[in-house]
Amino acid sequence: MSKNITILGSTGSIGVQSLDVAERSGFGVTAITAHSSVKTLEEQIRRFKPALAALADEAAAADLRVRAADTSTKILGGEEGVCECATAPGADTVVDAIVGLAGLRPALCAINAKKDLALANKEALVAGGHLVLDAVRENGVRLLPVDSEHSAIFQCLQASPPNKALKKLILTASGGPFFGKTKEQLQNVTAADALKHPTWDMGAKITIDSASMFNKGLELIEAHFLFGVAPENIDILVHRESIIHSMVEFDDNSVLAQLGVSDMRIPIQYALTYPERFPSPVRELDLSEVASLSFYKPDYETFDCLNICKEAIGKGGLYPAAVNSANEEANLLFRQGKIGFLELPKLIRTVFAVTPENKIYSLSDVYETDKAARAAVLANM
Ligand code: NDP
Ligand code: MG
Repeated sequence: MSKNITILGSTGSIGVQSLDVAERSGFGVTAITAHSSVKTLEEQIRRFKPALAALADEAAAADLRVRAADTSTKILGGEEGVCECATAPGADTVVDAIVGLAGLRPALCAINAKKDLALANKEALVAGGHLVLDAVRENGVRLLPVDSEHSAIFQCLQASPPNKALKKLILTASGGPFFGKTKEQLQNVTAADALKHPTWDMGAKITIDSASMFNKGLELIEAHFLFGVAPENIDILVHRESIIHSMVEFDDNSVLAQLGVSDMRIPIQYALTYPERFPSPVRELDLSEVASLSFYKPDYETFDCLNICKEAIGKGGLYPAAVNSANEEANLLFRQGKIGFLELPKLIRTVFAVTPENKIYSLSDVYETDKAARAAVLANM
């Protein structure tokens, strides 16, 4: 399979692993982007020789232009530069591994340039679900999940095309570092405590989201948009070992699951080689070594972020965008040590009062909602 890919967010956890998969698979790299990681992007330019590279931060882009002047890579700056990379001619698939709402516009640019989109950036789909789905439909491109749970569901669904007799999706969750803790025990936990994830090694924002379980709420909304399943037919199941990456249940109560060691290169590679399967750099799963798998119901009382996301998708329209942006702001404040862990859901909840009810929305409505949601969080802290 000869293929060229572009990676948006190439300096992050998913981005670096995507470059690794591309290199091992013999895929060309057309363009790479980041926010301000000049040094890492320069190293990647020298190694992967993309035609284009961009840094969203203009000053960092100016610095990179000087440092990479001896290479043949064209360096762009700003959100415009990132979007130009997303549409760069020659790439078949664009990996969106940007963190947060910043990944939405580049995702739409890639889709409108008729690129298949391998989506890690769940916030883009949560905030702009209908915009992304409409663009995918209009351009006839593929939307391929990178998130491990969604890749698992995508793989299980191949057993029953086209989603016939599908009863429900079962999203597994590791439970994060605070599994089993009470609210009293969570009163004084810090970002450093939350950054100790038991099974996955990820970027800082998603690791905090995993601790608060907001990540699983985002994933429920992501699954709703990706697979067209009503939120009430998506169950969340805590599974501490992160071996079963998710399951689907059919009308006959038959349940299919996808298993593997917890290494994101498996779902990243499947998104890039689909419908083919390549040999993997990831080790085989040895279930005799794992010995036992455990399952629990989520604790909705302690982890209110799960309820918040369910309520937001129940209300639809701009509510998922609002809670996503509120969480982005609150997550950052927690990482900066400015708010406590239990304040996360309290602050995010404040956006329900300031979000407009319209069901149809545009990209500028999403940005307006983003502004209002962040302002509500800051005003209530
Ligand atoms: P990281 O924080 O490790 O990387 C984020 C990347 O996005 C970096 O390349 C960063 O550049 C870039 N970036 C940040 N802000 C902007 C911006 N405003 N404009 C353009 N680029 C920007 O995140 P992860 O790799 O952990 O996560 C990426 C996405 O994948 C998230 O949506 C996450 O939820 C999802 N995901 C991650 C998983 C994981 O295992 N890590 C698993 C499943 C999903 P710079 O280095 O310059 O800051
Ligand atoms: Mg996930």
